[in-house]
Amino acid sequence: MTEEKTAAKLRQEELFLKKENGYDRMDETSIPAMHTYCDGYKQYLDNAKTEREAVKAAISLAKENGFVPFRRGMSLKAGDRVYASNRGKSLMLAVIGTRPLDEGVNIGAAHIDSPRLDLKPYPLFEDGGFSLLKTHYYGGVRKYQWLSVPLELRGTIIRKDGSSVEVTLGGEPGDPFLVIPDLLPHLAKAQSEKPLGKAVDPEALNIFLGSRPYPDTEASDRFKLAALDLLNQKYGITEEDFLSAELCAVPAYSACDVGLDRSMIGAYGQDDRVCGYAALKGLFDAKTPGKTAVCVLADKEEIGSMGVSGMQSQAFDTFIDDLCDCLGAHLRTCYENSFCLSADVSACFDPNFPDVYDKRNSSFINQGVSLCKYTGTGGKMGASDASAEVMGHIRIVLNRANVLWNVSELGKIEAGGGGTVALFMANRNIDTVDAGVPVLGMHSPFEVTGKLDCYMTYLAMKAVYEA
Ligand code: MN
Ligand code: MN
Repeated sequence: MTEEKTAAKLRQEELFLKKENGYDRMDETSIPAMHTYCDGYKQYLDNAKTEREAVKAAISLAKENGFVPFRRGMSLKAGDRVYASNRGKSLMLAVIGTRPLDEGVNIGAAHIDSPRLDLKPYPLFEDGGFSLLKTHYYGGVRKYQWLSVPLELRGTIIRKDGSSVEVTLGGEPGDPFLVIPDLLPHLAKAQSEKPLGKAVDPEALNIFLGSRPYPDTEASDRFKLAALDLLNQKYGITEEDFLSAELCAVPAYSACDVGLDRSMIGAYGQDDRVCGYAALKGLFDAKTPGKTAVCVLADKEEIGSMGVSGMQSQAFDTFIDDLCDCLGAHLRTCYENSFCLSADVSACFDPNFPDVYDKRNSSFINQGVSLCKYTGTGGKMGASDASAEVMGHIRIVLNRANVLWNVSELGKIEAGGGGTVALFMANRNIDTVDAGVPVLGMHSPFEVTGKLDCYMTYLAMKAVYEA
């Protein structure tokens, strides 16, 4: 009897898939490296609250790691490191490999835009003794989450004369913060009866900018005037300059450790800068690859990957085509032999909301990088759906590099859904699969990730580039 049981147990060990916690499987000696990596990541997050800042911070890290600006027609050889900024809003980097580009490239693609509150073209007005800024939310925002949260203003203004000025209100030590105060519960009776999605009017997401009037009791619009006066002193702008500006209200706090055991990271904008940083750092640390390694940090994913800086833009094709020109290869041949890891976050199983997950097909914290064969909504609608061969390839690559990984779906079928840049890469005739860090509270002003998963995603990216 006992012997039979042992035989079954042995057979189980042979046949069953093990889903152990990553901490039980990870080599103890890699824990300090994981923390060091995560410290660098948190620092990057604090410097990268918008896609523009993410590009800037990435370029400065790239330069430290030997990357130089790509010039069309430059001569390139194995080991060369180049980058090309697309209008300061998305970034493409490459480490030239030893093999011809016609054999394809290995791509890590992540996005560096995150949900936030953008200012409207005519944002400034006054009411109730306040100066206020009207906003238009960007991406999949749960509006109630942005109330009574300290905010800062970041962005770029192009002034009348064409000169540009950077805004980082709240970014410097000692800076004031901004806020959209929530309704007091005492007077929220009617609002509390509304469905959650309708409780906050998007036109009421107005940021409180100031409350002190311009010191001239005879003047009109004294609150608006006082605000413009300060903005003019600080940034040299007039009201009309808002018309040529990209100003974003983002949460004002820095990235921090979460949990008594410091096993997690809490921060704004982890979707998808957590994968953006992994894709970047993986490229920096990859050994001179066989196939050329390419990292792309895309903008506009949260609103459909459109536009010149989105993943649908031909800017990417142009960059790869330019590399092909430099190295005597053909873009289409290169694409059909290429592989892309679309690095984007997945939904981490949340025990407070178990109903929206299929527990057997969810990503759990500390299981490593989470592969996603398909995204989409309902019946995989809108997904590029990686093939068995592609899944087989990435399995081998990750296992060879001792990367902890799992496979997951976003949530229960028909619970909702979502997409990434994967389909836009796959549409280019590039074999593509999604993989990334599971996130709690995705798209909220304070997203949470597991450090082990962040680190494993970095190792996964590195392995893909070195494959
Ligand atoms: Mn994302
Ligand atoms: Mn997102």
